[in-house]
Amino acid sequence: MSHISNHLPTAELQALDAAHHLHPFTAERRLAEKGVRVITRAQGVWLTDSDGQKIIDGMAGLWCVNIGYGREELADIAARQMRELPFYNTFFQTTHLPAISLAEKVCEKTPQNLNHVFFVGSGSEAIDTSIRMVRTYWAIRGYSEKKAIISRKNAYHGSTVGAASLGGMTSMHEQGDLPIPNVHHINQPDWWSEGGDLSPAEFGWARAQELERTINELGEDRIAAFVAEPIQGAGGAIIPPETYWPEIQRICDAYEILLIADEVICGFGRTGNWFGSETFKIKPDVMTIAKGLSSGYQPIGGCVISDDIAEVLGQQEFYHGYTYSGHPVAAAVALENIRLLEEENIIGRAANVVAPYLKEKWEELEAHPMVGEARIIGLIASIALTPDKETRAKFAAATGTSGEIVRDRCFANNLVMRHVGDRMVISPSLIITPEEIDIVMSRAWQSLDEAEKIIKTRGLWKVAPPVC
Ligand SMILES: *Cc1c(COP(=O)(O)O)cnc(C)c1O
Repeated sequence: MSHISNHLPTAELQALDAAHHLHPFTAERRLAEKGVRVITRAQGVWLTDSDGQKIIDGMAGLWCVNIGYGREELADIAARQMRELPFYNTFFQTTHLPAISLAEKVCEKTPQNLNHVFFVGSGSEAIDTSIRMVRTYWAIRGYSEKKAIISRKNAYHGSTVGAASLGGMTSMHEQGDLPIPNVHHINQPDWWSEGGDLSPAEFGWARAQELERTINELGEDRIAAFVAEPIQGAGGAIIPPETYWPEIQRICDAYEILLIADEVICGFGRTGNWFGSETFKIKPDVMTIAKGLSSGYQPIGGCVISDDIAEVLGQQEFYHGYTYSGHPVAAAVALENIRLLEEENIIGRAANVVAPYLKEKWEELEAHPMVGEARIIGLIASIALTPDKETRAKFAAATGTSGEIVRDRCFANNLVMRHVGDRMVISPSLIITPEEIDIVMSRAWQSLDEAEKIIKTRGLWKVAPPVC
């Protein structure tokens, strides 16, 4: 683990990266000034950078390395599959063993009525596929006007044109003339920021009601589907109040619209069950999966659909597919990943041993002067930063100013904890140990203390005026 392979000095790597490599969701000029961190190796929940520093990864990469880094079995299976059949398509009336086996395994794991999977290369592609599928489903049934999709503000569904449109991030919509037509966004169930004087239970119910109101406004005969993450991930790990999902499910049952659960983060153990839909008792017609499907060892995702949708879509050719749909190496790795998750009971252990321990430690953060709510389900957790807990106030500075200061302190203290605006998020690998959680927490406390001092010194500890 102490081994660092021969490479250029960090400064030269940074200069080359700045010269040629464009990063996702990054202001390039600013990053070049700060200097990018070069990650060279990883094992378990630990990253090593080009200076030999050990960083504890509180984010499982990007919500995906559920099984942890360094699993030899996954490397071996990839090498074996590359030797045997590195690529073949699934377009030409052909299939191959990894795609068959993974499809069977995925459908064994997903809820009972979801028995058919369309493979893709990423979560964004899974979402784009779901858009085309649900619209085509209704069109084949003779309802070609049923094409609107209801999504939520501050949702994240990916970065392609379709996925960014379903997403509810206004900053993303502003770049590239989005959203595409026939997408509607209702409000999110974020009680801390938007709940006002309502109790969480009242607020969750009220926010769910917006779905019914929107269905009635637009007309049921024009709506194809409602799409939502069981827990909004990139929106800030926002765990909805308990009243939210039951009411959403009631509405989806009462109207003829499809429910798409975007399980790209929640899927494969994140919430303590195989899928977030189990945790929240959601009955989706379509499930999008990616990230944890292969624990990030290979890029692969899927769009899993119900027997009813598959039956209808199967009546004609669906003009859709990706060269790498069901890629044999990615599929073989995903299958092995699921086998290991099952055989080693990684999800059960995470739910019963690790999650309760993390919950106890995480909720203690509410004692910190800068932390409002601390929320957690399974191994996905967030805290809201605030200058005044009593009133759930926002900071007066631009949203994200405080979050970024905390994030930078964490990174300097060799902890990866992400900020989303002024919320801090963790989503560690499921194999994290209680001892490693102690390290995460002590670095988090230290970083929050340091950030609090910086925020106060810079005169940023100011409450934003309330929005009317
Ligand atoms: C990451 C993510 C996506 C997009 O997946 P990519 O693989 O980055 O395209 C879609 N939905 C959710 C909920 C995500 O977290």
